[in-house]
Amino acid sequence: MNFKDYVRVIPDFPQPGIRFKDITTLLKDGPAYRAAIDEIRKLVAHHQIDLIAGPEARGFVIGAPLAYALGVGFVPIRKSGKLPGETIEADYALEYGKDKLSMHKDAIAPGQKVLIADDLLATGGTIQTSINLVRQLGGDVIGAAFLIELSYLQGRDKLDGLDVVSLIQY
Ligand code: AMP
Repeated sequence: MNFKDYVRVIPDFPQPGIRFKDITTLLKDGPAYRAAIDEIRKLVAHHQIDLIAGPEARGFVIGAPLAYALGVGFVPIRKSGKLPGETIEADYALEYGKDKLSMHKDAIAPGQKVLIADDLLATGGTIQTSINLVRQLGGDVIGAAFLIELSYLQGRDKLDGLDVVSLIQY
């Protein structure tokens, strides 16, 4: 299956110069969505994984079904002010804009092996912040998995030493 055919590229969204990779066209196709998750699962199957952590909101759409497929738990990484329990927070910069991410303090037990999942790796800022949060909680980040990687932004260089996998590259 050529997964790239299912991604719609929208120029100048959300601001001029950004070529937005719209995955809703892939998600609404049942066989394509299932096959994509299954292929990502195969790319990480050699790892021992205790938990998947994914950043809001598209990280949930990839991370949660991946966790289900692997039979492991899913931990949400959310925008500030959304989680009801005690949290830790970190600032981060995006390819476009700025934000704050948070996790529940008890989301991860020290030493648990965590795979971070998201829809798209751009500059790597979101994932770097996610990794920092997981590490602050004592989690052992073993890698990061993406549906899409914008290779020209070299985000993976920020994730030194981690196994970074992606299904589609631009
Ligand atoms: P970054 O922190 O720069 O790696 O940005 C990653 C996050 O921003 C991902 O979770 C994407 O959802 C979103 N994002 C950044 N650039 C794009 C793009 N060109 N198309 C679609 N989503 C993007």
